[in-house]
Amino acid sequence: MRQFKTESKKLLDLMINSIYTNKEIFLRELISNASDAVDKLNFRSLYDESIKLDEGDLAIRVAFDRDARTITISDNGIGMTEEELERNLGTIAHSGSEEFKEANAQSQGDAVDIIGQFGVGFYSAFMVASKVRVVSRAYGEDAAHVWESDGLEGYTIEPGERASHGTDVILTVRDNEPGRDGEEGESYDRYLSEWGLKDLIKRYSNYVRYPIQMMVTKSRQKPKPEDAGDDYKPEYEDYEELETINSMTPIWKKHSSDVSEEDYNEFYKSTFHDYEDPARTISFHAEGALEYDALLFVPGRAPFDLYSKDYEKGLALYSSNVMIMEKCAELVPDYYNFVRGVVDSADVSLNISRETLQHDRQLRAIARRVEKKITSELEDMRDNNREVYEKFFENFGRGIKFGIYNSYGSKASELGDLLLFWSAKEQKMVTLAEYAKAMPEGQKAIYYAVGDDRERLAKMPVVTGVLARGYDVLLCTQDVDEFTFQAMREYVARDMPKVYEDDAAREAAQKAQADGAEPEVEDRRLELKNVATGDLDLATDDEKKDAEEATKEHEDLFGALKEALGDKVEKVAVSSRLVNEGEAPACITTEGPVSLEMEKVFKQGPE
Ligand code: ADP
Ligand code: MG
Repeated sequence: MRQFKTESKKLLDLMINSIYTNKEIFLRELISNASDAVDKLNFRSLYDESIKLDEGDLAIRVAFDRDARTITISDNGIGMTEEELERNLGTIAHSGSEEFKEANAQSQGDAVDIIGQFGVGFYSAFMVASKVRVVSRAYGEDAAHVWESDGLEGYTIEPGERASHGTDVILTVRDNEPGRDGEEGESYDRYLSEWGLKDLIKRYSNYVRYPIQMMVTKSRQKPKPEDAGDDYKPEYEDYEELETINSMTPIWKKHSSDVSEEDYNEFYKSTFHDYEDPARTISFHAEGALEYDALLFVPGRAPFDLYSKDYEKGLALYSSNVMIMEKCAELVPDYYNFVRGVVDSADVSLNISRETLQHDRQLRAIARRVEKKITSELEDMRDNNREVYEKFFENFGRGIKFGIYNSYGSKASELGDLLLFWSAKEQKMVTLAEYAKAMPEGQKAIYYAVGDDRERLAKMPVVTGVLARGYDVLLCTQDVDEFTFQAMREYVARDMPKVYEDDAAREAAQKAQADGAEPEVEDRRLELKNVATGDLDLATDDEKKDAEEATKEHEDLFGALKEALGDKVEKVAVSSRLVNEGEAPACITTEGPVSLEMEKVFKQGPE
């Protein structure tokens, strides 16, 4: 008996003692493994000429035996060698479960939730099976091997037999569990029925690219005997037939009006291992020089490792129904790294390799279109589904801000309108355009304040001072905010009411409007200003004069203060920033491009 590795054991424990209500996902997981195995062989055959495949033969079979209480999932894919059985089924080393491992280490034991969050793959079989037997023969090998386990301590691997390459996963389904203490029991019998399995296949694996076949019982009318009399009543008989249960057409090839939202959601959840519906489904078909289908999803929540360096962005890349790459990073920009989905193009060359990817013109053309589409869908969400958008922004806004920062502002015009910030005046999230639209006449800049805490920021004298002049202040609490603003430098507000330089022009415009003309609009460049740095240029001439006079008047005092503070401050002076009398007697501001908050971020060093 070989022992499971520690992490695998933990996962198995959870599976076996699972009270998770979604145990039925086990079939989806096993079928998706079967489909992956067929994919791998199919893909290999593309460049390995010694592999002769008849694509029509590639299939997945599901069978059950009610008396023996077994379900068998078979594929004629790539199969596994003895070493591969050991490595793949004895340890958690694969993607979904790796995440699981981390989350499990962090969580304080809410197992149910954890299971729901990840595609936990092969081991999910133990949620419904008391024993799992895997018979596998790797492509190109003569010998087959049998892996077997009850999921407790360990597993065995022994020589076995299989007619050709591929894998059978045989589950011995658990006995029904009676309910205890008035709770409902658990019935596993439905997995041992034709309708039960068909239902699961249709619900979870409908769009698997290979046929999922099952022997089903059908009924037909017996032929009418030659000598049947007038009172002959038709007779029926049962017969068995191999039926393909899934629809097979990839979901992204279907017209979006022919697919229900539920189908899209189910596809997303099962393919990308999420337990929440996507916030947005984007599907489009491109024609012209380059033809392709794309199906993209904006997740409803941020994966917990999104901001870790292990996170891999990318879309699955298919060509003629063969998966070329699971995560093609070149298809999405970093700031849309959260987008999941599929691009399928018959035009993309099959022998594309990681090295040639970046130089692939076709891919870059697709990537550009994909990016544009995502942006416009997000804009639509922002304008028509604000609540969902705010949640989206909470999840992924930080990455978009980084996108602007990392582009040194060159992405500002594309991404700037996706940003949301907290408005001190409105007490809600606003876009920069909304901020600009609400500005009183004469306001020339967008003001923001940066700090750890919204409430505290709102009370800061430099903030209340600007608010008192009737100008809104954006309260920013994310580390990247100020860097983003500095990279942007300014925001161009579109369609702002035109400001007339001289009275004659204004009067002429007013007259025209009175005669029914539309009010004139113009684009306005608004500087982005931190209320705590530099000269805000808000004081009226009178205020400036007062401040100067006061500074002169108290020269001795300020000189003494500067002397006492030494190098800690650049200068001490009277400020016209503080408007509300009696609120705060003094404030600290900085000059130059690095604010106090940015200094803090720099001191923390890179993440
Ligand atoms: P994942 O599919 O995320 O890699 P699983 O737990 O579902 O994780 O499967 C673990 C590994 O076992 C797979 O990566 C694959 O290498 C192997 N495997 C599982 N089922 C099969 C199969 N039917 N044919 C070939 N290999 C398989
Ligand atoms: Mg899997």
